[in-house]
Amino acid sequence: MDNMKNFEDNERLNNPKKQNIIKEKLAERGVNLMDIAALTYDLQKPYVPTITIDICLEHVNNVLLKREIQHAILVGIELDVLAEKELLSEPLLSLVKGDHSLFGVDETIAFSIVNVYGSIGLTNFGYVDKLKPGVIGELDGAGKREGRCNTFLDDIVGAIASAAASSIAHRYTV
Ligand code: MG
Repeated sequence: MDNMKNFEDNERLNNPKKQNIIKEKLAERGVNLMDIAALTYDLQKPYVPTITIDICLEHVNNVLLKREIQHAILVGIELDVLAEKELLSEPLLSLVKGDHSLFGVDETIAFSIVNVYGSIGLTNFGYVDKLKPGVIGELDGAGKREGRCNTFLDDIVGAIASAAASSIAHRYTV
């Protein structure tokens, strides 16, 4: 009975069916999960010397199982796509298209991803948000091109990598 209850509770938090939709959405926007795993690897290598890129990828996949995280990703990507199609109304359209540094809601969506994984996720997100390593910097640059909007996507990717780093920290740090 207890096992059954644990299973049901787990399925409330996780949604394996939607995980594939999320992966497809990220791929459509040019995001490779390996690139996210590479960010996670760089974040955790100093603390977990035995870490491998495959372990990082596994934790990235686990992050994408969480229902609340899936919802944040769906909202963020949708707003980027609607901005590219000019389907948002003003003043939101200009704020999202212009990736204004004081807009702030892109980071708030990212917080709703890292919050699921506690304070290590939050501090790592602040770190990658400032430095924009790897694919985060590429997405940020690509989003400044005409007809392209990655205002939410770069933060979403940083948050997934940071959440996976936190997941690894909780699993491996002694
Ligand atoms: Mg942004």
